[in-house]
Amino acid sequence: KYSTAAAVEDPINPPVKVNYTQLLIGGQFVDAASGKTFQTLDPRTGDVIANVAEGDAEDVNRAVATARKAFDEGPWPRMAAYERQRVLLRFADLIEQHNDELAALETWDNGKPYEQAAKIEVPMLARLMRYYAGWADKIHGLTVPADGPYHVQTLHEPIGVAGQIIPWNFPLLMFAWKVGPALACGNAIVMKTAEQTPLSALFAAKLLHEAGLPSGVLNVVSGFGPTAGAAIASHMDVDKLAFTGSTATGKVVLQLAAKSNLKPVTLELGGKSPFIVCEDADVDKAVELAHFALFFNQGQCCCAGSRTFVHERVYDEFVEKAKARAVNRSVGDPFKGGIEQGPQIDSDQFDKILNYINSGIESGATLETGGERFGNKGYYIKPTVFSNVKDDMLIAKDEIFGPVQTILKYKDLDEVIRRANSTCYGLAAGVFTHNIDTANTLTRALRVGTVWVNSFDTFDAAIPFGGYKMSGHGREKGIYSLNNYLQVKAVVTPLHNPAW
Ligand code: ADP
Repeated sequence: KYSTAAAVEDPINPPVKVNYTQLLIGGQFVDAASGKTFQTLDPRTGDVIANVAEGDAEDVNRAVATARKAFDEGPWPRMAAYERQRVLLRFADLIEQHNDELAALETWDNGKPYEQAAKIEVPMLARLMRYYAGWADKIHGLTVPADGPYHVQTLHEPIGVAGQIIPWNFPLLMFAWKVGPALACGNAIVMKTAEQTPLSALFAAKLLHEAGLPSGVLNVVSGFGPTAGAAIASHMDVDKLAFTGSTATGKVVLQLAAKSNLKPVTLELGGKSPFIVCEDADVDKAVELAHFALFFNQGQCCCAGSRTFVHERVYDEFVEKAKARAVNRSVGDPFKGGIEQGPQIDSDQFDKILNYINSGIESGATLETGGERFGNKGYYIKPTVFSNVKDDMLIAKDEIFGPVQTILKYKDLDEVIRRANSTCYGLAAGVFTHNIDTANTLTRALRVGTVWVNSFDTFDAAIPFGGYKMSGHGREKGIYSLNNYLQVKAVVTPLHNPAW
């Protein structure tokens, strides 16, 4: 069952020191202009880890001016692409050298299992940097045929100063998804990290400078959304905005971008992804994958498989086994070996999740297991499973962003397609079947940006990720992500001397 409560009450001392807490502007760590700081908290206890410089509009102005200068006058967009590539490759090497420190900072600030951070996420950060390093010297335009005696070419140019706003659920990976393509294409950046998790990105950005990034190319402003974030989104001198976060905030930043200088915006927003277990499924395997799809990262994934649709033929067996699996999930101090689930990120999320659990109970869903806090300190929640969930219940409609599995029963394929698609979201879906016809039908019919067939959360650097509908605009990772950071310039030259 769960690990001992003592493991939660006596948190393990994190094997790392916090060295960087200031804003990173123009290659220097500096205090906020206001001198203000905010506390970043340990989700295991609610205790303060560090006081971090709190950037606001004035710091964003400074950072944008520095990035502007680095872009307009500095070497970065002008140097041989091969040199930019070498910076990114050296950065990847440094990430590997500091793997465990980065992972420890990530776990301390976020609460995710250290093993997950150290063995999957930090290695993935290095992998993403090498992937984008590979692109740096392969970005080029086309020669275009035209009606008439013209030489027509397209130049793929960096877009300029990119504003990037990231969330707290995968601080380092979100850093990589944003910084990788922007730098490979030769842009300058002003990034705002999430106020819950400012630490790991500051360390990573420091390593990037050690790898040879010219100063001013990447500026990191820690701070809050309505101040620092809004200042980036509405800045007249930011040429592009990339945002990952909630759909509600996505709407806000899109409006700020439109009202200011109409900067193009990519958005990676919320989801309520279906995980569809078909009637031919091997139930044990389906239970395990559906469990992973929902509970991974404390349920704090925008693409979490948060509506588990199970065919009526296997439903009862599935519910029984899903409950048993959740009961066996090991919850505890994320620095402890073998732990699958740490605390939620903060008290706001903790309260929000418990409210959703109450709403599930009140609306008549069956609480199979969990439903309450785990231990008596920090923000741990017991793995929770609801069965008999109906489409119109709040727990089946809203993004809960926590360890709460909701299981829904269905009869046939047309019905589950209709129900899976009847949401404002369209980020991802899971399909579990051995039947190739069923798989093909579902992959074509689901209106989502990713369908994982007999798999889930496969996040290779080259696989594009993004949403249909209110889950977002544009794609990150893979070849598609480069377009977010490029302008296309058409150059038209007559082949002969013009007649005039
Ligand atoms: P969550 O509810 O999961 O924290 P948010 O969408 O609020 O998701 O946060 C994602 C990122 O957006 C964070 O870096 C946050 O500070 C930032 N943010 C929040 N509100 C705004 C805003 N009004 N303008 C710009 N950025 C914001």
